[in-house]
Amino acid sequence: MCGIVGFTGVQQAAPILLEGLKKLEYRGYDSAGIAVMSDRSISVNKCKGRIARLCEKTGDGTDVKGTTGIGHTRWATHGAPTEENAHPHLSNDGRFAIVHNGIIENYLSLREELTADGYRFESETDTEVIVHLIEMYYRGDMRDALIRTTNRLSGSYALGVICTEEPGKIYAVREASPLIIGVGAGENYFASDVTALVSHTRNVIYLEDGEFAELSTDSIGVFDVLGHEINKKITRVMWDVQAAEKGGYEHFMLKEIIEQPAAVKATIAPRIRDGKVFFEELDMSYDDLRDIRKIVITACGSAYYAGCSGRYALERLCRIPVEIELASELRYNNPLIDEHTLLIVISQSGETADTIAAMRECKARGASTLAIVNVVGSTIAKLADHTIYTWAGPEIAVATTKGYTTQVAVLYMLSVYFSDLLGITEDEKPYVRALQELPRAIQQAIDMNPSVRPLAKKYHRSSALFFIGRNTDYAVALEGALKMKEISYLHAEAYAAGELKHGTIALIDEHQPVIALCCNPAIMEKTLSNIVEVKSRGAEVLALTFRNNHKILSVADDLLFIPDIDPVFSAVVEIVPLQLLAYYVAKENGCDIDKPKNLAKSVTVE
Ligand code: GLU
Repeated sequence: MCGIVGFTGVQQAAPILLEGLKKLEYRGYDSAGIAVMSDRSISVNKCKGRIARLCEKTGDGTDVKGTTGIGHTRWATHGAPTEENAHPHLSNDGRFAIVHNGIIENYLSLREELTADGYRFESETDTEVIVHLIEMYYRGDMRDALIRTTNRLSGSYALGVICTEEPGKIYAVREASPLIIGVGAGENYFASDVTALVSHTRNVIYLEDGEFAELSTDSIGVFDVLGHEINKKITRVMWDVQAAEKGGYEHFMLKEIIEQPAAVKATIAPRIRDGKVFFEELDMSYDDLRDIRKIVITACGSAYYAGCSGRYALERLCRIPVEIELASELRYNNPLIDEHTLLIVISQSGETADTIAAMRECKARGASTLAIVNVVGSTIAKLADHTIYTWAGPEIAVATTKGYTTQVAVLYMLSVYFSDLLGITEDEKPYVRALQELPRAIQQAIDMNPSVRPLAKKYHRSSALFFIGRNTDYAVALEGALKMKEISYLHAEAYAAGELKHGTIALIDEHQPVIALCCNPAIMEKTLSNIVEVKSRGAEVLALTFRNNHKILSVADDLLFIPDIDPVFSAVVEIVPLQLLAYYVAKENGCDIDKPKNLAKSVTVE
C-alpha cells in the first residue's frame, strides 16, 4: 500500500534507493528499509519511523556496498509498525530478500503450512510467507519460483525480489497493487509510482496485473503468469513530480475517491471465505455476544456519520439496539454504559483525542470495546479489546473519502458476522454476495456520473444546499453535507426529509437548491412527496437515485445515479457521487481541496 523501489546498475544502489524512497514519502508510511546485494550476500537495513533515520543509520547509504537492491516504505496492515515487521524480509537461508505492498489474504493458512515444513518466521507480517515460499520453490530458476509462489497467493501484491544466486538482477511482480519499471541506460529501476523514477528516466513500462519482470543492468524481460515473454511498450512520461505524486490526478482527494473500489475490496475480500464473513482478529464467541444488551457507536466527524450508516445494518441484521453518540458528547454525558454494552469506536487515524477519551470513560464502566481503525498500532487500536483494521491504505487528503467508505464497509461486515454468530440470519449468503458486489458497484457509481462536473458548475454559486433523505438516505445525507462544507465552504445542511415541514421548510424557495437522496425503495414514496413539496416552493431538485427510477426521474430537475444494490448496504455506494459533487463544487470555488482551511487530518486535541 505504500512504496517500493528497485535498482540495478553500476552505481552504488543504497543512495539511489534511499533517494527513491524519499520521493515516495508523501504516500504515508510508518517504517522503511532497504536490502542491497553484493558478492552473493544481502545486507538489510531497516527502521521504524522516518527515512531520515534510515539515512542516518547507513551514512546516507554510503556505508552499504552493492549495485543491486530493493527498498520499501511500509504502511502496516498485519503486525505493528516495528523494526522486525519492516520490510525487506529475508528467507531463512539468507539467499532471498523481498519487499511487498498490499495484503496476502490467505497468509494464515500459508503460515501454518510453512511453519509445519520447518520455516522460521521473524515477523508478524502477512508478507513473510512470500519469501519462504520463494525459498521453497527455488530450484535455480527465479522465474519458475515466482510463478509457483504467486500461484499460491491470493490478495494484492506488488513485490520486489532479489536473490544471491542471480547477481545483478531485480524482480518485480504486480497483482492489484501498482508497480512501474523505469528504463535507464546501463541501469534499470522499478517503483510504485513515477515520482521515484523521473529524476533518473522518463521512459517507463507499466506492468499489468498478473505480470512480472526480470531486470538486469542492460535487459528487461516482462512475463505473464505462465512465464511467456510479453512485448511491452515503453511510455514516455512528461508529468512533473507534483502531478506524479497524485497519480496524474489534480488532487489527492480525487485520487482517493477513485481508489475506493480497490480500498473497499481490500477491506472486504480478505474477510470472506466460503460464503461467510470471518474476522480472524476478533476472538468473539456466541457467549460474548449473548450478554450484549446494546451496542453504542462513538466517533467524531465523518467516522460518526459512518456509524450512523452502519447502525441500520447492525440493527436490522442483529436485532440488537444500537445507539450512536458523538465522542465529544459521550465523554461528558455520564453515559449509561456497563459490562453488557459493546462500544464500537471508529477513527481513521486511531488518534482522535475525543474518541480516545470517550473510550476510556466507557471502558472504566465495564463496556467491552471494539475499534474500527485504519492506522495499525495507533492509540485506539492498542486500547481496544478488539481491533478491526479497515486496510484503506494511507489517506492524504484531509477530507476523508476512502477512510469513510471502508469504515462503513467494516460495520456492514460486522452486522453479517454478528448475525451469523447469534444465529439470527437463516441464510447469510445473499448478504455476503451483496458485500462482495460493493467494490464493483462503487466503480459503477464513479463511471455513471459524468454529469457531476456540469452540475457543480450549476450549483456552486448557491448560498446554501439542503441535503434531504430518510432512514439510510438520511445517514448518507449527513456525510454528503459535511463533505460539501469541509472542502467547498458552501453551507450545506442535512435534513431528515420528513422533518422539513416541522421546521425549516420556510427556508425553501427558488434560491434554495435541494439535493434529495432517494436510494431506499422502502421509503421512496415518502421522499418523493418531500421532493414535490420543495418543488412547489420553487426549489430546484438534484436527485440521487437508481437509473430506472422513473418516478424520481420525472420530478427532479437534475440527476445523479447509483447502480441497483441492496439498500441495507447502499451507503458506501451512495456517498460516492456526493463526494464527487463536493469535489467539483470546491474546484469551481477555487478552494484548497486537499488542505481545507482550519482543518487537520488527525484531531489529537479536544
Ligand atoms: N501487508 C504488508 C505488511 O503489513 C505490506 C504493507 C504495505 O503495503 O506497506 O507488512
